[in-house]
Amino acid sequence: MGQDPPVRMSDLAVWEGTFDPQVIDEAFKSYNLTIATTVFAVGKYTRFLRDFLLSAEKHFMVGMNVQYYVFTDLPGDVPGSMTLGVGRRLKIVKVPKFGRWQEISLRRMELIQTAIEEYIHQEAHYIFCLDVDMRFHGRVGPEAVGKLVAAIHPWFYWYPRNQFPYERRNVSTAYIPLDQGDFYYQANVFGGAMEDIHRLTKTCREHLECLPLSRASVCPCPVDKSVGVEALWQEESHLNWYLLRNKPTKLLSPEYVWDDLRGSGAKEIQLVRFSSVIKDNAEVRENI
Ligand code: UDP
Ligand code: MN
Repeated sequence: MGQDPPVRMSDLAVWEGTFDPQVIDEAFKSYNLTIATTVFAVGKYTRFLRDFLLSAEKHFMVGMNVQYYVFTDLPGDVPGSMTLGVGRRLKIVKVPKFGRWQEISLRRMELIQTAIEEYIHQEAHYIFCLDVDMRFHGRVGPEAVGKLVAAIHPWFYWYPRNQFPYERRNVSTAYIPLDQGDFYYQANVFGGAMEDIHRLTKTCREHLECLPLSRASVCPCPVDKSVGVEALWQEESHLNWYLLRNKPTKLLSPEYVWDDLRGSGAKEIQLVRFSSVIKDNAEVRENI
């Protein structure tokens, strides 16, 4: 309401200066939590794994137990010689390679949902779901842990809500009207308590199943009887729909999902913690 978005955000989100790292680390120590971390590296995206993991070992949930789950179709391409810190382990989960890059990206919801049901729920307390084409540059610690955690997209936070790139076609299950929405969240990072992320991934998966993924002409899903439409930003559109109805209990500032393409000039960003690397989409993506 007449406020500029970065100011409005700073009241609510986790930013540098809004918490004392030592106090938070001390408070979390006694809980001895395990954080599940899912990351997909399918096809040529395995090339991002090494830097992702090396930087995560330096900056991500340091001092906590971390269980990485690397979902890949190419287990042999997962860096094998990496030494992980105490209490940190890595599990490889073999997945099929889907045809289109959009499908690889959006199938994550389904695969995370089933992995939570089958084993992750027994192996960790909280879960973070991260893109692999990213690198940590600064602390991402327990200040980011919460029941339902989402991060504000680094490219849209100064826009009014009617210009957020939500899905605007009302035939889509991800539809958001122009006058609704708090933030545009980036799907590169989301997380939370196991039951919350199970519900999130299950709901998004059910909505995504309305898509003509196999190019079938009839949508198999009872939610949307129309022939499915692929939402503008695939699972990110569905994530935004979900988070409009289920407000995040912890909001991460764009420090936690920066983009190297935006560079380091933004004055409101004191510290880039986790950032997308610049990639050649035409080179790494399947079937553009
Ligand atoms: N992904 C993958 N292989 C692909 C396409 C996507 O492993 O061929 C996974 C990977 O974890 C990637 C995520 O899906 O980080 C999202 O895709 P991408 O990073 O290309 O989307 P963007 O962040 O550019 O919107
Ligand atoms: Mn990405």
